[in-house]
Amino acid sequence: MTTHKTRMLIIGSGPAGLSAAIYGARAGMEPIVVQGIQPGGQLTITTDVENYPGFADVIQGPWLMEQMTKQAEHVGTRMVWDTITEVDLANGSPFTAKGDSGDLYVGDVVVIATGAAAKWLGVAGEAELGGKGVSACATCDGFFYRGKKVAVIGGGNTAVEEALYLTNHSNDVTLIHRRDSLRSEKILQDRLFANEKISTLWNKEVVRFVAAENGTLGHVELRDTVTGETSTLAVDGAFVAIGHAPSTELFAGKLETDASGYLQVEPGTPKTAIPGVFACGDVMDHTYRQAVTAAGTGCMAALDAERFLAERDFAAKVAVAVD
Ligand code: NDP
Repeated sequence: MTTHKTRMLIIGSGPAGLSAAIYGARAGMEPIVVQGIQPGGQLTITTDVENYPGFADVIQGPWLMEQMTKQAEHVGTRMVWDTITEVDLANGSPFTAKGDSGDLYVGDVVVIATGAAAKWLGVAGEAELGGKGVSACATCDGFFYRGKKVAVIGGGNTAVEEALYLTNHSNDVTLIHRRDSLRSEKILQDRLFANEKISTLWNKEVVRFVAAENGTLGHVELRDTVTGETSTLAVDGAFVAIGHAPSTELFAGKLETDASGYLQVEPGTPKTAIPGVFACGDVMDHTYRQAVTAAGTGCMAALDAERFLAERDFAAKVAVAVD
């Protein structure tokens, strides 16, 4: 077991964690970023990114995260391939955290940037057929459905982007949404409606995923949310794209969450109720949830962390001088 000590321990390596690292490293805090199970975060499982400022042409999500990681390293961040399994925030700074590797991490401040993970419908057949036709990531698994019939469930940006992406592999994509209008941005809706490979099923919810004889997904059972009528749709692949839930399990009982389960911070800041513990990105942002806003709050966390440490160090010096 190794003990890693740092001024700034960052948990999570998406845009929030890496932006905190870039600012923290440049402020001399020699950050350690514990990357977690999905290094680079959610952008590593997307394709085209055209709304992250600074790039006139479309860029790829994994490429953007690779660049952010290198940038963080170039200015002095240490990236660690480990996943935090336990944190101790109760005794104040310095805080300790345990990694899956058995290593111990000690940070004068902790920046929580654990992000969010895809939500599931929680209906019959979903878990059993996971990896056998049911997925929550078209960019990861879409390739397996080349020339097959697929469905996407949801009506937000993720669902529409996934449906559009799947047309690279399939000529028969159905978007299933529980209402009669989409929540996604207009530009994406325009592309969706203009795409002849995509059809939409309105006011339908999936009640069950059903296996074919070979054990993989055969069809979905649907219920009309207006009339209550049931129907079926034969598909080889179904992609659940109904949003994300913040990854807060590590902090249960240790930090407050809001009504939707996101970490609670002092409004307009990344400060949690524990001095020296900051939260940024999708784990604390129920409203905006964009890469650029995650990066912004990561920057704020680093600036506030720097202030926290400066004030603490100053107070310690004064205490010594008074003694
Ligand atoms: P959203 O929360 O925006 O949308 C979730 C969708 O799933 C909604 O249409 C919702 O329906 C539907 N839904 C939720 N629960 C269920 C359920 N149990 N059964 C059936 N349908 C359900 O999530 P997204 O992942 O799409 O987006 C999250 C955030 O990330 C947003 O802020 C989005 O703008 C952003 N994003 C941005 C992208 C970009 O800018 N390129 C790409 C992807 C995401 P209903 O509408 O009825 O509530």
